[in-house]
Amino acid sequence: MVEDKNYDLCFISGGTGTPKLLRGYSVLNPYFSVVVNVAEDIWISGNKLCPDIDSVIYAIAGVIDDEKWWGVKGDTFVTHERLKELGFDEGLMIGDTDRATHIARSELLRKGYTLTQATRIVKNSFQVKAEILPACEEEVKTYVKTPEGWMHFQEFWVLRKGEPEVEDVEFRGVEKAVITEDAGRAMENSDAVVIGPSNPVTSILPILEVKGVRKLLKDRVVIAVSPIVKGKPVSGPAAKLMKAKGLEVSANGVAEFYSDFLDLIVVHSGDRCSYRHEETNILMKSREDEVRLAKFLLGVVEKLLR
Ligand code: GDP
Repeated sequence: MVEDKNYDLCFISGGTGTPKLLRGYSVLNPYFSVVVNVAEDIWISGNKLCPDIDSVIYAIAGVIDDEKWWGVKGDTFVTHERLKELGFDEGLMIGDTDRATHIARSELLRKGYTLTQATRIVKNSFQVKAEILPACEEEVKTYVKTPEGWMHFQEFWVLRKGEPEVEDVEFRGVEKAVITEDAGRAMENSDAVVIGPSNPVTSILPILEVKGVRKLLKDRVVIAVSPIVKGKPVSGPAAKLMKAKGLEVSANGVAEFYSDFLDLIVVHSGDRCSYRHEETNILMKSREDEVRLAKFLLGVVEKLLR
């Protein structure tokens, strides 16, 4: 029984696809670590939003709004509505409980805590046992180049609904970013690193570009799960962004993108892939699907490490 053996897994995550897998994996084993993208973080109404960190915490804690895949299920929007009446349209719909996370984090940062420390306090308050680790402490900002010029990723995705064409993507500030000690240690001490089914360009690449990450990955067993199924992303703008980076929108394109350090990729049944791979149904439409894929992943880990 593969589930009986406790492997130390370190996941690399964005805010939608991988958190589904993490919710499934935490049913099998709540102790793991996750290195999370911070390049979509943004300050709004005085508070720092870390969309990917929060979605990972909320998903594992079982409180995520899984219709939208961000924010807290059943949240109220009293503060957001009142701010609008006061003339502050935040653009993003931020719920009251979700905002408490942002306020607590921002206060902790203002008091001198690191983002890693602030994240630990927040995730502990949700009784999350897994280690949730920002990839770096430095602020990194994702910008996309459109025919109208460069815009912040949140402007492109939330305000403009991902409509403009994308010509290029850049992560401003990443040249100064260094993997945190905690995230580096979690990767180093893991039996395997799992790059979850997240957007390879906006969620994974800004982590790969942080100093120290690629070197750590080269020394480890690395398994990826494709976010692309039958040549299309399950959700979100990955196709546009992969094309902007000159990548084929396919499981094979994802494997090629990670090929410097990848040992194996899990792809959807029937999807073509010329890299070492395993096939299964990688769609997570229910909690059962999430657990089933997590079990399959454990089987792959066991096979590779045997
Ligand atoms: P973001 O931070 O919100 O952009 O989220 P991520 O980067 O973590 O996740 C977005 C990616 O998740 C998209 O490219 C989707 O194709 C992928 N995704 C979403 N749901 C699923 C699923 O059920 N299975 C797989 N394999 N990928 C998924």
